[in-house]
Amino acid sequence: MARITDDELDDIRARNPIFDVASGYTKLRRSGGKLLGACPMCGGKVMSGRFEVFEKDNSWACYAHCNTGGDVISLVQQVEGCDFRAAIEKLGGRTEIDAARAKELFEERERKRLAREKTSADYREAERKRLFRTWKSAMPINDTIAARYLEGRCLVLPEHCPGLRFLPTMSYWHGETIDERGRKSPRQIYSGPAMCGAFIRPDGKFGGLHLTWLNVVTSPDDVTAPAPVKAEILDPDSGEVLNSKKMRGSKTGAYIAIVMHDAPRRLVIGEGIETVLSVWTAMHQAGRDLDDMAFWAAGDLGNLAGRANKTINHPTLKRPNGQPQKVPDRFPDLDDAGLSIPESVEELILLGDGDSEKVLTENAMERAARRYARQGRVIRIAFAPSGLDFNDLLKAAAA
Ligand SMILES: [Zn+2]
Repeated sequence: MARITDDELDDIRARNPIFDVASGYTKLRRSGGKLLGACPMCGGKVMSGRFEVFEKDNSWACYAHCNTGGDVISLVQQVEGCDFRAAIEKLGGRTEIDAARAKELFEERERKRLAREKTSADYREAERKRLFRTWKSAMPINDTIAARYLEGRCLVLPEHCPGLRFLPTMSYWHGETIDERGRKSPRQIYSGPAMCGAFIRPDGKFGGLHLTWLNVVTSPDDVTAPAPVKAEILDPDSGEVLNSKKMRGSKTGAYIAIVMHDAPRRLVIGEGIETVLSVWTAMHQAGRDLDDMAFWAAGDLGNLAGRANKTINHPTLKRPNGQPQKVPDRFPDLDDAGLSIPESVEELILLGDGDSEKVLTENAMERAARRYARQGRVIRIAFAPSGLDFNDLLKAAAA
């Protein structure tokens, strides 16, 4: 049997409303806007949990014992204990879709997709506002645990660093918990002091947060105590060490201002906060004139360089199945604007860390150089030696 098309599947679902099919298996009653009944699989009663049918999106879920759900086809599969093909046959099988029916089904899918997108856009905006409230509640970074963490890495903070702040307590969320009614909610697994950076979007608005959780070894007031380090955060279930850095909200095209300038002539951009601060520190300590310069952190390599026009095979690295690994190419997809570099920038300095994968980093740097090239603008790419980042160089110099 040929592959069943999306149109045919949508047609089967449309011909078999979830209410009709589920009602054939169990008695459903309306309660509020919901349809509830005993679960036809596990027998779970309304009292002990819920078997629910959602007419709006033609789906079902059992919160009693099954803890699962799906569409009308999966309902038939589970109740009848049959496979996908057999379930489709029980639901009347596939029928020929003519052009008019295909168009109807396509329009219905589009309508649903747009509704979903609107919901997720609303969700993202709500998340951005929550993060902005967190940002406004944060303290200036100077003289905090975060400042001491940076000092411990031989980094000097500029006198004015509007893009970085400190949060005495910040929650770390990881995974989800499911309550007895089957509802999912994010799970807080850790809480502690954190350095935070604000991502500024191309339209000048706050976009999201860059967070680095820190461990305080001893009293933060004891100046002779060892400097704070990045927190070790473990997944309580697997014991896996989690990344002590997180980016939340939207960072696309956005940057963290390490050193701000209204109309910089020179601009330094690197991936991480520490990388960019390392270069600032080195230039500052060398007594260089930095008056016409701005320093930005892009958060990650993809954001620094923007989207590639395609991916290519990595020259040497292979996937476990023996196929070459894919990496983004050196040429930009110009539909993605990338970071919005001020028109005033005559010299753009891009920092490539030597501790990231070499081909990936080199491609990203070249892509960024092509994307941000302008008449009268010089673009320099500075690579840290292989296996090192700029902060390692700084620490080696200070030792
Ligand atoms: Zn059940």
